[in-house]
Amino acid sequence: MFEKILIANRGEIALRILRACKELGIATVAVHSTADADAMHVRLADESVCIGPPASKDSYLNVPSLLAACEITGADAVHPGYGFLSENARFAEILADHNLKFIGPKAEHIRLMGDKIEAKKTAKRLGIPVVPGSDGGVGPEDDAIAIAREIGFPVLVKAAAGGGGRGMKVAQTEADLLMALSTAATEAKAAFGDASVYLEKYLQKPRHIEIQVLGDGRGGALHLGERDCSLQRRHQKVWEEGPSPILSPEARARIGGICAKAMQDMQYLGVGTIEFLYEDGEFYFIEMNTRIQVEHPVTEMITDIDLVLEQIRIAAGGDLPCTQDEVNIIGHSIECRINAENPETFRPSPGTITQYHAPGGLGVRIDSAVYQGYKIPPYYDSLVGKLIVHGKNRPECLMRLRRALDEIVVDGVETTLPLFRALARESDIIEGDYHIHWLEQYLAGKAPKT
Ligand code: ADP
Repeated sequence: MFEKILIANRGEIALRILRACKELGIATVAVHSTADADAMHVRLADESVCIGPPASKDSYLNVPSLLAACEITGADAVHPGYGFLSENARFAEILADHNLKFIGPKAEHIRLMGDKIEAKKTAKRLGIPVVPGSDGGVGPEDDAIAIAREIGFPVLVKAAAGGGGRGMKVAQTEADLLMALSTAATEAKAAFGDASVYLEKYLQKPRHIEIQVLGDGRGGALHLGERDCSLQRRHQKVWEEGPSPILSPEARARIGGICAKAMQDMQYLGVGTIEFLYEDGEFYFIEMNTRIQVEHPVTEMITDIDLVLEQIRIAAGGDLPCTQDEVNIIGHSIECRINAENPETFRPSPGTITQYHAPGGLGVRIDSAVYQGYKIPPYYDSLVGKLIVHGKNRPECLMRLRRALDEIVVDGVETTLPLFRALARESDIIEGDYHIHWLEQYLAGKAPKT
């Protein structure tokens, strides 16, 4: 097992990793920018190193600084969390060159899945159903209109290097398509330094359902059921739950089995999420994330498996925690991403938290790194914390969620709490009757009936 882990991240996920390290008896090193000197992860770690000024590119993305921090503290492994360097294959290789363990998948798998065109080809080869679309990238030499006609309009132009919903454009008609191709390529080039785009059939009212997987890197792999992340705004998840309110045990076993088998064939190492759109009883692969995800606690609550702890154990050469037959889905869990944002305009609202009270009681979990008097800096994402609830079934889970949302206090900054309080009382949500466009329609004030 590792002796000392450097946590190359900040906020709630840095704290989450720190907690797993404590339970495993591993010493921790926090790194921080000058803007995060007072952050909770810095206070709770055994050691901390300042790695640069506020801008992420100069601190949390600064590889030479991170290597120096490993060197001076004697860390033997690095946990990247999510975002920042978590899906950077080159970073994983550089760490290996310095005899440091990257707590994550093999570099080749990160690289493969980081290119969505290659990821789709791989998924198809492994027997995973994919969204109908272009066979590969669509360049200026290709007849995009002919390809789109074959797929059928509307089509979605997507960036090969995409992430966070950027570089995605819908084209309803042939006339739209050329414009969508050039705007998506320009946006992708600016955001990711890679202008490659591809086409996909635009699904009308699908749900976003993703499968959590775990592999030992030697051909052993499991699936841990699904999370339904259909409540989104601008392709960003807002509310996640598991199990999906609409998936049958047979459908779960079928898609889970396909994913686990694919991971066995790849000899995948560590945690991963295979994302699908689900419509009319069919699954369509969209991408795979080769890291721990923000919404991982939903799976932890319903499987009682500590994903971050297992991630660390497996990176150190450990075995899978159980067999597929031993994975039990218990009850229901919902996670709300509480952001420091205006609940109507979603404009970020950084500043000092003047009052903070976390809810508690049976089945209530808060993953957050804020405290009363903490100043949310303007430089990073606006996540205040995640409220995760668990109940023996969905109605009990929703009841606990409403109770916890009424109890939590975050004053001094604007938050999205009022939105969640309303959502937890909306009839479509209570019935589990929603799809990926529901939330935007709801926010636009339309009556969103599926
Ligand atoms: P990113 O990596 O930018 O997050 P994804 O491929 O994961 O992009 O897609 C993010 C979201 O965009 C999905 O959850 C879904 O809401 C929407 N989306 C992606 N592909 C399609 C599609 N073919 N049809 C309809 N919506 C889609």
